[in-house]
Amino acid sequence: MKILVINAGSSSIKYQLLDMTTGNDLASGIVERIGEEMGSISYKTDSKYTAEQPFPTHREGMVEVINLLTDADKGVVKEKSEIAAIGHRIVHGGELFFEPVEVDEKVLQGIRDCIPLAPLHNPGHVIGIETAMELFPGVRQVVVFDTSFHQTMEPKAYMYGVPYEYYENWGLRRYGAHGTSHKYVARETAKLLGKPLEESNIITVHLGNGASISAVKNGKCYDTSMGLTPLGGIIMGTRCGDIDPAIVGFIAERTGQSAAEVVTTLTNESGLKGICGSNDLRDIHARIEEGDEKAKLALDMACHKVRQFIGAYAFELGHVDAIVFTAGIGENDEIYRENCLSGLENFGITINKEKNNNWDRTPSFISEDDGAVKVCIIATNEELEIANDTVAVLGL
Ligand code: ADP
Repeated sequence: MKILVINAGSSSIKYQLLDMTTGNDLASGIVERIGEEMGSISYKTDSKYTAEQPFPTHREGMVEVINLLTDADKGVVKEKSEIAAIGHRIVHGGELFFEPVEVDEKVLQGIRDCIPLAPLHNPGHVIGIETAMELFPGVRQVVVFDTSFHQTMEPKAYMYGVPYEYYENWGLRRYGAHGTSHKYVARETAKLLGKPLEESNIITVHLGNGASISAVKNGKCYDTSMGLTPLGGIIMGTRCGDIDPAIVGFIAERTGQSAAEVVTTLTNESGLKGICGSNDLRDIHARIEEGDEKAKLALDMACHKVRQFIGAYAFELGHVDAIVFTAGIGENDEIYRENCLSGLENFGITINKEKNNNWDRTPSFISEDDGAVKVCIIATNEELEIANDTVAVLGL
């Protein structure tokens, strides 16, 4: 059975075709710069193909994806009817969606209703779903929300200390992000622990360009670091994470920028990049090797923040079975992982250097065998999680 996973943005479509019988990724790629004079498409199977061509709308982009998937030479399916269902990644489901659901007109309207909470993402998702419905008539579609895993948080965790009517009028609260990844690695960690997920307390540390940490209590999200938008929480590649909110006014007064412009600076020019000019950990480590102090400061600040959240979440959970690292940095950066967790033996948190430095990409522990809190690395796979959810929702 083949499931197509779509992640449509305002001017892009990421796609992946998965074979659910083997769990293999058959084809994947991205259509970019939709609506611009010149766009591009990439298509990866055993080999890689890229092309430059204009994609006036998402429709042309999706048509080209179908052409490639069914191409006599490059294709991986004979006909598009081989695709059993389509799963869509949706960034924001507000308080409307707790679970993945099959798409119908009411669900589409719900995603539109959440546009004020994710103005950069949800409009693209709606277009992606509408285009897929048009080009795959009769094929059932499921939406999987990045926020739904966090919907189990209690009000004491998700409310902000601001006038209550802001929540009532505009839904101003913490929603979290990367929920599909947190859910996937939490479940895989429980498997590794050999314990039912419903009885496991896990701190999930998703460290990519965007990054967030969740406290998972008895398998459910209890707290998470990201807030109303993906700007909050820990220090990220270009995003500032949690800061004193008065800083927005402080910068605006001095630069003459509007609040929205300051937020753009805090989103695109801050975080690791704001401190040292680089947002990729590979560059940062190379610069630290050369003695660059700002690069070292950026790394130390980011890890300091991760430690703070892990510490806070350990207290919130009371008992921690495991801490799991995932995503680009979490999976690849042993220095970052060690920096976050060194010196915590008194709390039962250990890192075995040998294991930490030689991870073989299979889910495995990197803590000492006698460590009370297990530390592990699990490669996230959001597309597989979306495909699994799609199969489960449709009962395929
Ligand atoms: P996104 O949030 O865009 O999905 P990823 O999860 O792919 O991000 O993470 C990308 C980040 O992972 C890069 O910016 C880089 O900082 C980090 N990264 C990737 N590979 C390595 C590596 N080998 N060593 C250290 N950091 C890495």
